[in-house]
Amino acid sequence: MIYLDFCRNRRIGVIGLGKTGLSAVDALVASGAVVEIYDDQKSFDNIYPHLKRIDTRTVEKLDALIVSPGVNFIWPNGHPLVNAARRNLIPVLNDLDLFQRHVRNKIRVCITGTNGKSTTTALVHHVFNDAGKITAIGGNFGQTVLSLDPNSDYFILEISSYQLESSNILGFDTAILLNIAPDHLTRHGGMEGYITSKQKIFANFHEKSTAIVGIDDDHCAEIFKFLKKINHPQVIPISGSRVPPLGVGWHGNDLIDNRRGSWERVCGKSLFLDGVHNLQNVAAAYAVSACNGLDGEIFQRGLFSFKGLEHRQEIVACIDGVQYINDSKATNVDSVEQALKRFDDIIWILGGRPKENGLESLCKYFDRIKFALLIGEAAKDWSQMLRSHGVKNEIVYTLSEAVPRSREIAKIHGASVVLLSPACASFDQFRNFEERGDQFKNLVLNNDFKSK
Ligand code: ADP
Repeated sequence: MIYLDFCRNRRIGVIGLGKTGLSAVDALVASGAVVEIYDDQKSFDNIYPHLKRIDTRTVEKLDALIVSPGVNFIWPNGHPLVNAARRNLIPVLNDLDLFQRHVRNKIRVCITGTNGKSTTTALVHHVFNDAGKITAIGGNFGQTVLSLDPNSDYFILEISSYQLESSNILGFDTAILLNIAPDHLTRHGGMEGYITSKQKIFANFHEKSTAIVGIDDDHCAEIFKFLKKINHPQVIPISGSRVPPLGVGWHGNDLIDNRRGSWERVCGKSLFLDGVHNLQNVAAAYAVSACNGLDGEIFQRGLFSFKGLEHRQEIVACIDGVQYINDSKATNVDSVEQALKRFDDIIWILGGRPKENGLESLCKYFDRIKFALLIGEAAKDWSQMLRSHGVKNEIVYTLSEAVPRSREIAKIHGASVVLLSPACASFDQFRNFEERGDQFKNLVLNNDFKSK
């Protein structure tokens, strides 16, 4: 845990008592701060009974208010306590700000983007560790920043748009923006608010900071141009499908370092990170490694020993010639698109709690789908939508019905892949995407089902 010396005897409020808020409370209490807490949900009433609750009348007495990522910061309206703190000129910070003040002399690599954050963060951490660097990984992935080992030399941090929105200090050593596609729009008041949050990852740069930007989508390509225009200290473009001028990218099966304007082959593809989307993640991870002094050989060794993460196009089994793929982490259409692009003759299991965007942008891949099985709250609406586009489908509502049914249907339709890639959040039926993916895997690997 990180000890926050500068908070001793300060009166600090923490709003939002999820994983991040609780770790902030623990770190602040251990650092000798006078901590006050608040959460909208009654179920938190019994947490830390000895700590005072913040209310709008006492906010003015705080030295700072720490907001958790889940708390509305600006959109649709700032939370009343956040607004009260702002009105009283109380600093509104987040856990990342506290962390940043503490670890100023350590190297902080921060990764954001709509998709690919966790894969890239885990890959960079793996490569750095494999190279013998003392490296911590956390943020929006795994441990919260305040729970990390302060003695690490490198901090590889996944940062979400929610965290960026409420961050003040920023000024990372290396910052990566992989891609931007519509997601979390209600929370950010629309696309503009979402892009503004993501772009903040490049704020407050110091002379030696490096910006690494994916240029495969229009939003990020614009941000790249903007960073060049304002002469950001160092900007490296990366791509999963080409070799950008003065950047890092792919030519066929080869990863090419073109940062100095001459093509240098780094290595080939890894079997575990396939598809253009993963090639973008690999290019980003190489750019980070290279600008932190790791050479191509060291990167290749790390890349080839990295097995990928669970729940992201994870191959679960091959049964009767049909591959079962767990892509439970695909909660938005952009990530589902990566899976539909990659496979053919698909039995597609989708649904759950729908997000703002419908399935329209996926229409061009519908001819790859032999049959769809719909689960969760989105099932009825999406069944009609798919039928109107000529995609045969059935509503099954739950995964425990979907998986055995997928096997029967795969036989009838001669499918080669059963793909769970839901395009929805999991919260209508599961605690999180991990639970959804685990259930899918258990059902696929269940012996009764296999021996039917
Ligand atoms: P995040 O942490 O940003 O949600 P993950 O690495 O967990 O990203 O991957 C989430 C989903 O997005 C998975 O379905 C995965 O296959 C897909 N994905 C991974 N990398 C990319 C990328 N660079 N572009 C688009 N989709 C991606």
